[in-house]
Amino acid sequence: MQALEALESNVRSYSRSFPAIFSRARGSIMLTEDGRKVIDFLSGAGALNYGHNNHRIKAALADYLASDAVVHGLDMATPAKLEFIETFNSVILQERDLQYRFQFTGPTGANAIEAAIKLSRKVTGRQSIISFTHGYHGMSLGAIAASGNRFYRTASGVSLSGATFMPYDGYLGSEVDTADYLRKVLTDESSGIDSPAAILVETVQGEGGINVARKEWLQSIQAIAKNAGALFIVDDIQMGCGRTGEFFSFEFAAVSPDIIVMSKSLSGYGLPLSMLLIKEEFDAWRPGEHTGTFRGNNLALVSATAAIDVYWRDDTFSQEVQRMGQVMRRRLEAVASEYRNSFAVRGRGMALGFDCQMPEIAEATSRKAFEKGLIVERCGPVDQVVKFLPALTIDFDTLNQGLEIFEEALCQSLKETTVAVM
Ligand SMILES: *Cc1c(COP(=O)(O)O)cnc(C)c1O
Repeated sequence: MQALEALESNVRSYSRSFPAIFSRARGSIMLTEDGRKVIDFLSGAGALNYGHNNHRIKAALADYLASDAVVHGLDMATPAKLEFIETFNSVILQERDLQYRFQFTGPTGANAIEAAIKLSRKVTGRQSIISFTHGYHGMSLGAIAASGNRFYRTASGVSLSGATFMPYDGYLGSEVDTADYLRKVLTDESSGIDSPAAILVETVQGEGGINVARKEWLQSIQAIAKNAGALFIVDDIQMGCGRTGEFFSFEFAAVSPDIIVMSKSLSGYGLPLSMLLIKEEFDAWRPGEHTGTFRGNNLALVSATAAIDVYWRDDTFSQEVQRMGQVMRRRLEAVASEYRNSFAVRGRGMALGFDCQMPEIAEATSRKAFEKGLIVERCGPVDQVVKFLPALTIDFDTLNQGLEIFEEALCQSLKETTVAVM
């Protein structure tokens, strides 16, 4: 630990929030080197929807490695890639009446966002990307330009251009439909807002504080994009792969994005894998025009295929996620109501946020929770929201234990926080 503090860059972050050396993990439990068992409600920021070292997925990886099959092949064709595309296409896309082409990008979410932005600029010949207040799309310059957080934006060190921010659903309170404003400025020839290449949106803002967009709002945004001749892009990096209860987070709204951006839990095993799903008419790339060394890593494709095979061939898993999401929500709402609703609970499926309103309370709660054996992170504009992203595969008892720890930690934080809250 001292070596890390001395040698790893000052930029390190999660190792500060959760100070321990984590040596092993299985499902929703992580073991520290000094023998502590910790429940994980962070799940690699949503990269571990199927838990740590999911043994139903691991076997496919182990077999693949043992057979000396091609691990790295740039974007050459391999059986692993073929099988992934066929499986994803039949099990996920065709089942939902969706038709998309696959573009494997560099391995991070930000890589995929850059590709989506670049493609929509190429398709439309326009530059501006409409994104939303509190949105988060990654750290590279194009992605951060479309992200709201001032701390991250400032760290870029150059002027960020190409994105125009519009109010997300609910930003101006429940009385105002912010889609009306967007529609107005895009249809008004003198609004000062340039015609956009794309509208880029998260259906639930993960980093932004678990802000949930309504079905009607998402439908309006899709219609507005169409009328404006802009591509409608859903960033499903964190909320996709079942997090909100269905495979894609936008299914409940019955919209069909022009580009879907996927990463985080796509590989099913915490391996880096990102892709765009592109409607065929917008696949305007020329061969090799956007490239990269690590696109569609075969090992990650193998686990991604296994995850779909194991969990998505029928809707049992999806229903279970929705049921567990209800359990979580009821429990968190009960906690909030104990404090006369000074706190707000938001979310969909198994992505939930407990808005402490004050960053001090969220910080103390997360810190105390970790001392008691729970990893739970914060999000929101000033990190005032405690964010619950347990593995979708978590069992009922572990889920309850984690929620119990959260409640104790919150209760103690409130007693000890000197700021008067109530
Ligand atoms: C994590 C995340 C990204 C960025 O992904 P990286 O792999 O960290 O580059 C983009 N959008 C959303 C919604 C995310 O949650």
